[in-house]
Amino acid sequence: MAEKRTINRRKFLGTAAGTVAGVLTLGSSVPASARAGKKEEKAGALITRTLGRTGYKLPIVSMGVMNADNPELVRRAYEAGIRHFDTAYGYQRGRNEEMVGRVLVEELKVRDKVVIATKINIRPPQRSLPAEEIKEMHRKMIDESLRRLQTDYVDILYSHDVSDPAWLKNPALIDSLLEIKEKKKTRFIGFSTHQNMNEVINTAMEMKIYDVILTTLNYSLFDYTEYLETLKAAAAQGIGLVAMKTQCQQAWYREAVPAEMRRFYEGPVIHSALLKWVVRHEFIATAVPGFTTFEQLHTDLPVASSLEYTEEEKKFLEDRLVKTQMAAVCRACGQCQPTCPKGVDIPNLPRAHMYAGSYGNLYQARETLDSLEAARSVQACSDCAVCAARCVRGVNIARRLDELKTLLA
Ligand code: SF4
Ligand code: SF4
Repeated sequence: MAEKRTINRRKFLGTAAGTVAGVLTLGSSVPASARAGKKEEKAGALITRTLGRTGYKLPIVSMGVMNADNPELVRRAYEAGIRHFDTAYGYQRGRNEEMVGRVLVEELKVRDKVVIATKINIRPPQRSLPAEEIKEMHRKMIDESLRRLQTDYVDILYSHDVSDPAWLKNPALIDSLLEIKEKKKTRFIGFSTHQNMNEVINTAMEMKIYDVILTTLNYSLFDYTEYLETLKAAAAQGIGLVAMKTQCQQAWYREAVPAEMRRFYEGPVIHSALLKWVVRHEFIATAVPGFTTFEQLHTDLPVASSLEYTEEEKKFLEDRLVKTQMAAVCRACGQCQPTCPKGVDIPNLPRAHMYAGSYGNLYQARETLDSLEAARSVQACSDCAVCAARCVRGVNIARRLDELKTLLA
């Protein structure tokens, strides 16, 4: 059975490469049909959707390049039909952008056939600097990103890691992004958000300047109706929605799987079920699951050609214990913060935990922690004999903090 699946995936990858050419439509105008929610179209083997007002028509599965360090994986992803590659200034100290540029621009020479998105980040402690300093930091980062990517422009430039609506509305940030857009160093602007997503996205909808939002969406949010409605409204407004962190909680899902059911849930079933759950929401134009291995590419890409759940996937998603576990996963709402006497940035700590525990990316975990003020990071916890912080959903914050300290020790 496993062998048959492997062969089919290889066949699929070979077929998709030949059928997706021409799917990508580059342009800056907004066709009337570009509104998200429009019935999806199939181009060859891959389902495509339009990324809001950008007009880009993309396969519903894209590549999160963040943890990848094998150029061959980027090449194979392109050859398999993926046309949207998501990287960031800070990933792998710049080597990630360099790899994307080397493979797509220098070697394959397909710059005009792909959508390249990158992110630049002013860390929270620096966000109160004078406006001119913030603008100058943005200018330097985008120029460095373009140099590494070997291109004159990116398609989407995100402000990275926005959880505070006040930062989204900061004139220095807005001026920086608009200046970069005016200078044609990016075609579209947006932001990524990992916590407090509902409030931040509602703010963006009022502002009407952000074209694309890269947001967290995974099965642990299945009952967060208010957030799902917000996403739907944002897409209806023409904002292109890209989903990230689509399968990142899988280690915790596995904890929930009863022993007698493990035969259903081992291997790719969890990955494909979780990814399908995300992209079955039509307001999501595309998702950027991270690929670090060929097996992950082979597991995730077929989701772009069929959104029907298999019986195994249905059983996994409907399993009562799995759903119960979902209710105990951090959804980054921030409601625990007032319960910590030291004001530790608790919602960001599970993200660092995820990078270290689920992705095995200790560098990114440390980067996440370093982006916080020391007084609000995990160091502040060292004086607490007992963690007083309480989660409204029952997440065991003390346990996650202990695991994080162990992972990063
Ligand atoms: S630990 Fe709980 S209260 Fe705190 S951000 Fe996560 S879900 Fe919200
Ligand atoms: S251990 Fe808990 S209560 Fe103490 S600083 Fe850390 S998060 Fe806050």
